[in-house]
Amino acid sequence: MAKAVVIGAGAVGIATASYLQREGWSVTVVDREPPGLAGASFGNSGMIATHIVEPIAVRSILPKLPRMLLDPTSPLAIRWWYLPTLLPWLVRLLKATAPAEVERISYALGTQLAHADEAYRFLIDDAEVEPLIQRKGIIDVYPDMAFLEENAAYALDFRRRNGVPFVMLGDNALRNLMPALSRDYGVGVHFTAASHTVDPFLLVSALAKRFEARGGRFHRAHATGFETTGEQVTAVRTDEASVPADLLVLAAGIWSRPLALKLGSLVPLDSERGYHVMLGAPGIELALPVTVGDVRFSVTPMASGIRVGGTIEFAGLDAPPNPVRHEALLGHARRVFPGLKTEIQTRWMGHRPSLPDSMPVIGPSPHLKNVYFGFGHGHLGLTSAAITGRAITDMAAGRRPPFDPTPFRVDRF
Ligand SMILES: Cc1cc2nc3c(=O)[nH]c(=O)nc-3n(C[C@H](O)[C@H](O)[C@H](O)COP(=O)(O)OP(=O)(O)OC[C@H]3O[C@@H](n4cnc5c(N)ncnc54)[C@H](O)[C@@H]3O)c2cc1C
Repeated sequence: MAKAVVIGAGAVGIATASYLQREGWSVTVVDREPPGLAGASFGNSGMIATHIVEPIAVRSILPKLPRMLLDPTSPLAIRWWYLPTLLPWLVRLLKATAPAEVERISYALGTQLAHADEAYRFLIDDAEVEPLIQRKGIIDVYPDMAFLEENAAYALDFRRRNGVPFVMLGDNALRNLMPALSRDYGVGVHFTAASHTVDPFLLVSALAKRFEARGGRFHRAHATGFETTGEQVTAVRTDEASVPADLLVLAAGIWSRPLALKLGSLVPLDSERGYHVMLGAPGIELALPVTVGDVRFSVTPMASGIRVGGTIEFAGLDAPPNPVRHEALLGHARRVFPGLKTEIQTRWMGHRPSLPDSMPVIGPSPHLKNVYFGFGHGHLGLTSAAITGRAITDMAAGRRPPFDPTPFRVDRF
C-alpha cells in the first residue's frame, strides 16, 4: 500500500489524514503532541463558520487601524517591537484590501466554504460524533441598524452574493433567542447554515481515534526535514527516526513556514495570536454562538461551559500571552452578557496560522511532485479542515476537487 505522511495533528492534519486513508493510502501522522492539543485547534471558538467569506481586512477599517493597533485592549493589537518583523506581511495585507482583491478573495473563499459542511459531515458520520456538533447557526449582534449599516453591510453583501443564507433579527427576536443578551444590542444576523462544535479538542481527538482504529498510525516526533530523490520526497526526517513517504502533506499550522521553506516554498505565514477564557459556571443560558460586531469577539456555548474567545494580536510565536487581553475579553463579555459569572475559568492563547490575503495554502508543491500543502487557514481552520483534506486527497488522486484550488496555490505570493 502506498504510504502517505501528514505533518501536523491539528484539525487540518487529522481531517486530511482521514480523507487520505479512506482513499486507500497507508497514512502516518507525524506530531510530537497528541491530536488537537498543541495548536490552534485546541482553543478556538468552535464555530464552523461557513458564512465568513470576506477577508479579514477591508479598506473601511484602515483609518481606524493605527489607534486600534496600539491599544492593548482593542480587538486588534500589535506589540510595537514586532512591527518591523510584521511590516512585509502588513504591506501584503494592505494590498489585499483593494476592492478588486476583496472581491476575488471572497469569491474564492465562498467556493471553498460552500463545500465545508458536506466535507465535515462525511467525517462526522464516519466517526459517529454528531453529538459534538450543534446545528443551530451563529448570530452576529450589533448595537443598532446604523452601526450594522456602517460597519458590516459590506460583509453581508459579500455573503449574500456568495449564496450564504441569513435572517435579520430585530430586538424581540434577539431577546427570544438570547434572553441573557444586554439591551445595548438591538440587531442581529442569524447565519442559519453555520454550526459549531461543543469541544474542538474532543472533535479532533475523536476523528483521530477513528483514523487510528482504521489502521492509521501516529509517529510521535518533531519533523525536522526531508529526504529527496530528484523531484520526490522519499522520507520525512524527525528528531527520532525517518518516516518513509510516497506522498507528503504539510499541515503543521503556524509551524509550517520553516518546513515549507525546506521544500523550496517561501510563504508569508505569520501568527494572529488569539485568546480565550473558558467559563466553567457561566450562570447564563446560551443556545448558540454569538459574535459581537462592535468589539469583534465570540461567545460560544460548549460542553464544559462558555468560551469567550477571539481578538487579534501580532507578537510572533515566542512572546508570552498578555494578561491584559484576557481581562479585556472578560470585560467585554460581562458588558454583552450582564449576568455572566466569571469566577471559574481557564485561560488560553494560540496562534492562528495566517496569510495576509486571508486565504489558506491548499495544493501541490511547484517543486516536488509528491508534496501537498494544507496550512495557513487563519481564522477559519476549524471550519475548512475537512474540505482542505478532501481537496488534497482529490488532487493527489488526480481528480478535480469540489472547488477551484488555483487561488489557493502556494506560489501566489
Ligand atoms: C482564539 C481563536 C479562535 C478561533 N476560532 C475559530 C473558529 O471559531 N472557527 C474556525 O474555523 N477557526 C477558528 N480559529 C482558527 C483555527 O483554530 C485554526 O485555523 C486551526 O486550528 C488551524 O489548524 P491546523 O491544523 O492548521 O493547526 P494547529 O491546530 O495549530 O496544529 C498544528 C499541529 O502541527 C504540529 N507541529 C508543529 N510543528 C511540527 C513539526 N515540526 N513536526 C510535527 N508536527 C508539528 C503541532 O504540534 C500541532 O499539533 C480560531 C483561532 C484562535 C486562536
